[in-house]
Amino acid sequence: VTEAKTPHGYTVGIWTDVTAEKRAQEAAEAADREKTEFLNNVSHELRTPLTVIFGRASFMRHSDKMPQSQRLMDALEADGTGCPVAAGAARDYQRFMTDQGAGIAESAQHMIRLVEDLLDWTKVSRGQLELDMAPIQLDEIARSVTQELQPAAEAKGLTLTYIGDGPVATIADKVRVKQILYNLITNAIKFTNEGKVNLSMLHSNDKIVFSVSDTGNGISKADARRVFQRFQQVDGSMTRQNGGLGLGLAISEQLATLHGGSLSMDSELGVGSTFSLTLPRDTVSTL
Ligand code: ADP
Repeated sequence: VTEAKTPHGYTVGIWTDVTAEKRAQEAAEAADREKTEFLNNVSHELRTPLTVIFGRASFMRHSDKMPQSQRLMDALEADGTGCPVAAGAARDYQRFMTDQGAGIAESAQHMIRLVEDLLDWTKVSRGQLELDMAPIQLDEIARSVTQELQPAAEAKGLTLTYIGDGPVATIADKVRVKQILYNLITNAIKFTNEGKVNLSMLHSNDKIVFSVSDTGNGISKADARRVFQRFQQVDGSMTRQNGGLGLGLAISEQLATLHGGSLSMDSELGVGSTFSLTLPRDTVSTL
């Protein structure tokens, strides 16, 4: 409130509505904080695999000084090729190199996925993502994703299963449907420490419902709405350890919507979660 005097000598109070201005400023500050936090997360996410790649590449670069390499050279010099000692040393050396290569490939793959998520998010948020619609077999896609992620589940001692009700065809973007399922199952594995992850597929005349359920951490009611929002992770410390940029579900939801479908979640803290992808079924399509 500011005070002013009228020409007649009265003192009046003038009210200025600062609420709208203040709100706009707060929103700008929040957006700025979100951007800074996001950049910080991206930098960390990219730095971790890069450090692994750099470390392993350095190992390989100096591999002539590695004991495996020395043993191989000694064995070759002493006995010539073909003898068991030389063969053993060569195997050691090969194993060492293969391990380094595997570590580099895994970290590079992780970075590729992060960058793809970033590019997808940019496209989705600009409304520039176009689907490549074609007749596809959903049962086949579900099986192949489950198979691909089997090693990741096994590495955590989890059982990953798929239960479908036979071949179902529809018109959809194969790569994108696979991407959504991949994302949901990867999350389920990431946030489950024991028990199982199950993918199921049910269909009716007009829709197909994929459900990914896990016996993991679960999500509280308070956090439930946040998980589909961009850059949101329920527990920063836990997810930092697990990685991720909080974009997977936001992208998946947009992809489901672009298909005319939806993505939903049902979860209980400490019990587990079920994420369901509903796609419209194009009954005209035949394969
Ligand atoms: P990110 O790739 O960073 O995990 P997502 O968008 O895929 O991002 O997921 C956002 C957040 O939702 C996760 O960080 C996690 O907190 C929560 N979340 C997703 N899936 C699950 C799940 N199956 N169980 C528990 N929490 C989950």
